[in-house]
Amino acid sequence: MDKRQSTELLFELSHPGRRAHRLPVCDVPVENTLPASALAEEPPPLPEVGEIDLIRHFVNLSTRNMAIDTNFYPLGSCTMKYNPKRHERLASHPGLADLHPLQSDDSCQGMLAILWEMQNLLAEIAGLDGVSLQPAAGAQGELTALLVAAAYYRNKGEKRSRVLIPDSAHGTNPASAALAGFDTVSVKSNARGLVDLDDLRSKLDDRAAVFMITNPNTLGLFDDQIATITDLLHQRGALVYLDGANMNAILGITRPGDFGADMMHYNVHKTFTGPHGGGGPGSGPIAVRKQLVPFLPTPLVVQTGERYALDFDRPKSIGRVRSFFGNVGILLRGWLYIRTLGPDGLREVSENAVLNANYLLSRLKNVFDVPHGDRCMHEFVASARALRRERKISAMDIGKRLLDFGYHAPTVYFPLVVPEAMMIEPTETESKETLDAFADALIRIRDEDADFLHNAPHDLALSRPDEVKAAKEPILRWRAD
Ligand SMILES: *Cc1c(COP(=O)(O)O)cnc(C)c1O
Repeated sequence: MDKRQSTELLFELSHPGRRAHRLPVCDVPVENTLPASALAEEPPPLPEVGEIDLIRHFVNLSTRNMAIDTNFYPLGSCTMKYNPKRHERLASHPGLADLHPLQSDDSCQGMLAILWEMQNLLAEIAGLDGVSLQPAAGAQGELTALLVAAAYYRNKGEKRSRVLIPDSAHGTNPASAALAGFDTVSVKSNARGLVDLDDLRSKLDDRAAVFMITNPNTLGLFDDQIATITDLLHQRGALVYLDGANMNAILGITRPGDFGADMMHYNVHKTFTGPHGGGGPGSGPIAVRKQLVPFLPTPLVVQTGERYALDFDRPKSIGRVRSFFGNVGILLRGWLYIRTLGPDGLREVSENAVLNANYLLSRLKNVFDVPHGDRCMHEFVASARALRRERKISAMDIGKRLLDFGYHAPTVYFPLVVPEAMMIEPTETESKETLDAFADALIRIRDEDADFLHNAPHDLALSRPDEVKAAKEPILRWRAD
């Protein structure tokens, strides 16, 4: 087998006594300062391989990654856009990269200035008043904002136990609500894929604390009833939370605060180009309206005169939700992105993201079912429902086969309101040629033999790992036996 496709572990390549390199014996007398009790009896059982085998092992492994830098990555909802390399270079500047979070405020004024400005930029883009940069990702932003909402109601002496969530929402929404101690109530989508207002009205009473809405939603549709929805909630004294995962569609075009949201999170790694995938690294700042600012996590970055400092004197705060200041490395790249593009550039990002998605939609809407397929925002959801019924070809089969063509699969089986869902988000950084080639691949796959598709991918080292078993019985270390 081609070594590049090998799945052998370094341990399996090991031969006793092999060395990567040999250094001359040290002729400087060394005193062993460790007590005998602290010394191991024998060296640890590490793999013993030659340097060239070691290098080939890792270099070949690295070529098996599918990444935004190697392949088109239309993973819906995740906004896998290009991560500009200029930001990597600037973020690795020693003045930024070598900072330690325990340094005094005085010795890291530059970084504090950046974080302070980032708070203000994110407040402006949100149309809201205060920002906490602490949450480590969108999901933690949701949890943090709900804890802020709970503190706000506690402070007002109001008991509100419910969080209302549309059935098209991301799974983190109900999970965050449950973690924050709320009961979750699901609100139906209507035939247009938007919030069913009658269902919302029927579930709305004085127990409602927060309505969590994703807008544009996970079907790639902007809910044009949003003003009515936020009015309904506010009349009941409830708050509106915006899941900001889809901000890539509306930057500089509309602001959540302007359409009535009281709190929101950003996914800086999605919208503002933090390199991400496989679970991190993320950054999920939250922005809130004035009445919620006192409850934001501590510390916030503040400016006094020409100096920047961390403000810990915030008696109503819910406290800390993460160590230090959040994921500064991602915040920094986000700040660079926003500062580089400016207001007009950000607006262009969203316009092109929406244009690219609509172009792909127009090429694919007669190839697959697209339940809400007239127009979309920055992503759309196709369905393999008919293919499954007629030819037993599933969304999973199509996603797996795309890997053979060098494309990352779209998000499949989400949102749950669309059977056999394939959620496609091209992002603004892809060319027309890439989009055309991807559409051509999908069209070709649709016409392939079902049995051939059931066994895809055919050209990768691993074909169909048992994902359930991998999650339930993860084997995370090598054992000799
Ligand atoms: C990605 C995403 C989240 C969760 O954000 P993380 O940063 O991955 O924690 C929440 N909602 C939607 C719609 C998302 O796409």
